[in-house]
Amino acid sequence: MRKLNPANFRPATRATSRDVNRQIALNLIREHQPLSRADLARRMGVRRSVITTLVTDLVDAGAVVEAASTEVRRGRPPTLLSIRPSGELALAIDIRFSRTTLLLSDLDGRPVESRGFDTVHDPEQLIARIAKESRALLKGARRARCKGVGVIVPGMVDPATGVVLNAPQMKWRDVPFRQPLARVLGLPMQVENAPVACALAKMWLGRSSAGDTTDFAYVIVSDGVGVGVVKHGQVVRGATATAGEFGHIPLTLTGPTCSCGRQGCWESYTSNLATVARYLGRPLDDARVVRRGSGARRPSITDVIALAHDGDQRAIAALEETGTYLGLGLANIICAVNPARIVVGGEITAAWDVMRADMQRAIASRTLTPAAAATPIQPDQTTISPRLLGGVALVAAPRFAMPQVA
Ligand SMILES: [Zn+2]
Repeated sequence: MRKLNPANFRPATRATSRDVNRQIALNLIREHQPLSRADLARRMGVRRSVITTLVTDLVDAGAVVEAASTEVRRGRPPTLLSIRPSGELALAIDIRFSRTTLLLSDLDGRPVESRGFDTVHDPEQLIARIAKESRALLKGARRARCKGVGVIVPGMVDPATGVVLNAPQMKWRDVPFRQPLARVLGLPMQVENAPVACALAKMWLGRSSAGDTTDFAYVIVSDGVGVGVVKHGQVVRGATATAGEFGHIPLTLTGPTCSCGRQGCWESYTSNLATVARYLGRPLDDARVVRRGSGARRPSITDVIALAHDGDQRAIAALEETGTYLGLGLANIICAVNPARIVVGGEITAAWDVMRADMQRAIASRTLTPAAAATPIQPDQTTISPRLLGGVALVAAPRFAMPQVA
């Protein structure tokens, strides 16, 4: 009997290596366009025959166009590959506990126009308001150029139905989101959990020079804390679409009460609100009371970071402690999935210089090998919000990158 070599075992996901190659090829074309087939083969280190299949797939999927070079040379001019021509637009909608932002951009995430409003938490009212703002953004000729809508929600989503399964901060359970909104807007629409969408943006709009785009975890720290895990070039969703919920794995069993109602979750130590509460010297719940309108103005995470950069010791101490808790949770991710790198997004990355040493110390204290402790941790400091870029990626990524929707 043939012995199984465990070292060679890889999950038998559908067309794994082909998907990974297509993703790598697309990112290379995006970075180096226009690019000849020979150049692409050289950069990928694969044979020309592999490139032929890959390019056919990408052209068929509408992700890449191929045009004859205008360079004057002897013989047949080489055809050059580039990402589909600009002019097409995406509408990204980021729903956060406190604020909802809409961005109309091109398919690379370059902004055309944006607008926002304070989030209303009733789903029907929220959908009506989003529809109104979307119609205002999509007036005139823009409507026809818009290829689709990517909606980012702070919670777990069934990607096939666009139903929000559980959004603890919003207190939503089993809320149908895509169907009612898509019906009024009349455009193709994807609804996705924020960290998953951020991970997709890294895969499909990121620069491959920044690090591995097929094996990484994306951690987003905002009103909550979420994680999108990518393995073998695919987002790990889990059997019932709740994988990656590291934010609700407890660091202690007696800690602050989390938005999910349980105690001591990673999120309850690491979210923006947790940092602000720490700065104020208040329990997390008290800070929430202030936020819900007692009249007193609560500092934002951006205020606390600015104070720390001005030398305010209380702000520095609050952020350093956040660094420690952030590191403890990152160590859990490293122990669980051992990614090639971890990207961290959110306002908190502006305090990287303040938090970094404590974060790295916490990681070193809770990982099991020097190689695991050395996992690169990168702040995502893109000029556009990574969540909105995630919304754009939901539209810009080719069909085969998305879950098949009935
Ligand atoms: Zn929780």
